[in-house]
Amino acid sequence: MSIKVIIAGFKGKMGQAAYNMVTEDPALELVGLLDPLTPEKEVAGVPVFNQKEDLSGVEADVWVDFTTPKVAYENTRFALEQGFAPVVGTTGFTSDEIKGLVEFSRQKELGGLIAPNFAVGAVLLMQFATQAAKYFPDVEIIELHHDQKKDAPSGTAIKTAELISKVRPQKHQGAMDEKELLKGARGAEMDGMRIHSVRLPGLVAHQEVIFGGQGEGLTLRHDSYDRKSFMTGVNLGIKEVVKKKELVYGLEYLL
Ligand code: NAP
Repeated sequence: MSIKVIIAGFKGKMGQAAYNMVTEDPALELVGLLDPLTPEKEVAGVPVFNQKEDLSGVEADVWVDFTTPKVAYENTRFALEQGFAPVVGTTGFTSDEIKGLVEFSRQKELGGLIAPNFAVGAVLLMQFATQAAKYFPDVEIIELHHDQKKDAPSGTAIKTAELISKVRPQKHQGAMDEKELLKGARGAEMDGMRIHSVRLPGLVAHQEVIFGGQGEGLTLRHDSYDRKSFMTGVNLGIKEVVKKKELVYGLEYLL
């Protein structure tokens, strides 16, 4: 039996890639599309809705979300309320929101996935970075994205820093008397690490994690050149969440 899928944000860049992936996979059936402004009422026989509440009567298994940080939490909660297992790529969740959604998914006994990065290479980069941070506590993260991205730093950069924090001894980096001559020159600070966000046209999604040691350096880098790089992970997420009974934060928990 096919898995019935809704895509929220289907007119966006990631939503379009998800639309193509779902319609090309015979194991998946697209049953609803959500976009707040589109005048279309259907696309290739699939109904289009302008408000999430109108999807409450739709029979679906999974809610794929590539919308905007402003609505992602409400959308994910709504999906769980309706019995749709959420597969969420939208970034910008706070850790309290994620905790609350995990708890709510347990109450509803529904699987779900919030993944700041669906690219397998990016998940590996986070794992390699966590390994390296045990030996190299001096680390800076540079994330680079297209110039239409609404949130900074990226969800992937935050998750990378969170994972590194779990193994890295607490450390202040840089000179104790360091002074920023231009505000923001040293990037954002998280647990003593620095995160820098680059926004340029032509980029898709890229991240470097740079470690410095005594007389040596180590640079890890991942590049998503095409939004197709995220779709293997989204496809896997859809097929895994329907078997689970709680939401997880990170694709690595389903690999
Ligand atoms: P985008 O092109 O701006 O697409 C977002 C879409 O969501 C737009 O079409 C927007 O419509 C729509 N939207 C806004 N409010 C909505 C609502 N209430 N309900 C349904 N749809 C709504 O952005 P994108 O590049 O596709 O990225 C989308 C999200 O995915 C971002 O948060 C981005 O950071 C994240 N992302 C995640 C991954 C990952 O691997 N997890 C990878 C890349 C990007 P309007 O334009 O009409 O407002």
